[in-house]
Amino acid sequence: MSLAHGRPYLAIPGPSVIPDAVLQAMHRASPNIYEGALIDMVAGMVPDLKRVARTDGHVAIYISNGHGLWEAALSNVAAPGEKVLVMATGAFGHGWAEVAERLGLEVEVIEHGRQTPADPERLRDALKADRDGRIRAVLAVHVDTATSIRSDVAPLRAVLDEVGHPALIMVDCIASLGCDMFEMDGWGADVMLAASQKGLMVPPGMGFVFFNDRARAQRQGLARVSYYWDWTPRAEPELFYQYFAGTAPTHHLYGLRVALDMIHAEGMEAVWARHATLARAIWAAVETWGADGPLRLNVADPAYRSHAVTALRVGKPFGAQLREWTDRQAGVTLGIGLGMSDEDDPLGQGFFRFGHMGHVNAHMILGLLGTVEAGLLALGVPHGEGGVAAAARVVAEG
Ligand SMILES: *Cc1c(COP(=O)(O)O)cnc(C)c1O
Repeated sequence: MSLAHGRPYLAIPGPSVIPDAVLQAMHRASPNIYEGALIDMVAGMVPDLKRVARTDGHVAIYISNGHGLWEAALSNVAAPGEKVLVMATGAFGHGWAEVAERLGLEVEVIEHGRQTPADPERLRDALKADRDGRIRAVLAVHVDTATSIRSDVAPLRAVLDEVGHPALIMVDCIASLGCDMFEMDGWGADVMLAASQKGLMVPPGMGFVFFNDRARAQRQGLARVSYYWDWTPRAEPELFYQYFAGTAPTHHLYGLRVALDMIHAEGMEAVWARHATLARAIWAAVETWGADGPLRLNVADPAYRSHAVTALRVGKPFGAQLREWTDRQAGVTLGIGLGMSDEDDPLGQGFFRFGHMGHVNAHMILGLLGTVEAGLLALGVPHGEGGVAAAARVVAEG
């Protein structure tokens, strides 16, 4: 017997759960793209996007997923042959590095492994070694979705300032924006990337590159930027089509309008606090289960755990079995382990992830954890008792 017939729950780190209000806003006839309400709506949305990013800078909107944003952002700050430095804290840092290489950039990667946040001291060493000032940008991933490590951005900025290095700092917030606290201007990020399908609660297909005046000036110094990726007309359009270098992503825009309204009605601080408490509920459950069994959070120090995604190890083949069980028996789809495989587990079957970004509340997270506990019991995975109760206590205490 399967108990999966009911509303399915995709608990993976993107695409995230889409609110009904967002879906309903998208369910409509195609709008006029030459004049009228849509044009006004987009102009009004730009400041609301910047409020989520906590920036007074600029934003370019792309019809693209996150991989496209990686290319878009790099295309505006460096020319082939120029150098970037990547602070890699998981598979997504390496992914961005690969995009940089394929653009013909010289890429230096500072490898942090799978359990350590970006280290300002290692950045300092790399910047000091760059005597000719060849590094044009430092690339960091705020939350690496593969490892669920969250890195502090302000200390990286502080090192750049102390060393007096002119490189930009570019931060991938695709997993974290609208979930983990992020202050673009306050923490000194020059460029920041976010996509629609995670904390912003809209289907995949739209992305945002935020940039400040320093980054804008660096773009102006480039001899050539591709027509499609150039952020200048998108951020400073004279005609409506220039926002998107072509036809607007009409229905995504309607969805985003509602999503931004939801975020600002709740309030950024409240959104962050909700994600923080729900994340602590997850950690409490996992730590209780792990007290008497193989289940572990990937990130040991709570200070460096994301509030949007949680990577776990349970040992082969339990991760794959658990995902299969929760999907088939309970209608809950868990995320696969990504970039975590090793010699003992080449297919990464001992890993899985929870996505808890965006439109998630206490009953969803408690349901998710109850389902996982049922799966551990059904599969005979050894675990400590009382995981769900530990999570409930966190929720009860708020
Ligand atoms: C999801 C994600 C990406 C990639 O986004 P796609 O839409 O899958 O291309 C990049 N970086 C981070 C941190 C992400 O979470």
